[in-house]
Amino acid sequence: MTTGTTAAAGALDAQEVSVVVNGKTLVHPASLQVAPGEMVALVGPNGAGKSTLLRTFYRAQRPTSGRVLLDGTDVWRMPGKRLAQQLAAVLQETAGDFELTVYDVVAMGRTPHKRAFAGDDADDRDIILRALEELHVDALAHAPFDQLSGGEKQRVLIARALAQRTGTMVLDEPTNHLDLRHQLDTLRLVRRLGATAVIALHDLNLAAAFCDRICVMDAGRVVATGTPVEVLTPALLSEVYRVEAEVTEHPRTGVPHVTVQASP
Ligand code: ADP
Ligand code: MG
Repeated sequence: MTTGTTAAAGALDAQEVSVVVNGKTLVHPASLQVAPGEMVALVGPNGAGKSTLLRTFYRAQRPTSGRVLLDGTDVWRMPGKRLAQQLAAVLQETAGDFELTVYDVVAMGRTPHKRAFAGDDADDRDIILRALEELHVDALAHAPFDQLSGGEKQRVLIARALAQRTGTMVLDEPTNHLDLRHQLDTLRLVRRLGATAVIALHDLNLAAAFCDRICVMDAGRVVATGTPVEVLTPALLSEVYRVEAEVTEHPRTGVPHVTVQASP
């Protein structure tokens, strides 16, 4: 693979994946099939198991049972470098990046595409600069990553995933610290890339607007998977989130819109 290419969008197929840690079942056997280029939102209350399930996709958590296939190959049987050429992860928590500049962090996205100890060539630098610009962090290129705001860090980590040029992305609450415009920009970007993407999101309206399907988890189980219209019903929202929600339909796009009464 040459430095400039983007891996083809991959099919992601989680088959009956369970995670048991210290005798506690964090994820009951869960299945999720994502077609090449499809964007799927993973939603559900805090502690539902979203991050744990996502961690099995990018090989941070070994499933207790079941398997995760990327284009038909078990991710746990792929060489690490090959997996990193095909799948990028944007995570919430970051540790150990404190010595690095923003540029360095984004440049790490190129590592899987290089021979050991090779420096950045002109193609790499071009890809890195374009990723910095895309996420509006180019002005921060020489700033220490550690000193950025939460939202800026988040955008740098998205830029790193972008520079990785993978066909498949796993994003864990990527819009968490972002202002409204950068939330929209980020989801538009993922959409435009045409990458296969699984994205943990709390904002159900963003999930409905941007994602082809929504997978709902609750208490370690997948309780619903379907199009936003199929999934976002008052009954399901009441069952999963214990809130009374109204769901209206956008008159032009038909996208469901969830309104929760926020009275004290
Ligand atoms: P979500 O991302 O949906 O908020 P998580 O997947 O982070 O949920 O967590 C699911 C549950 O698993 C939570 O109750 C959490 O406390 C627990 N948990 C996560 N990681 C571990 C671990 N390594 N050991 C024990 N419990 C864990
Ligand atoms: Mg989480």
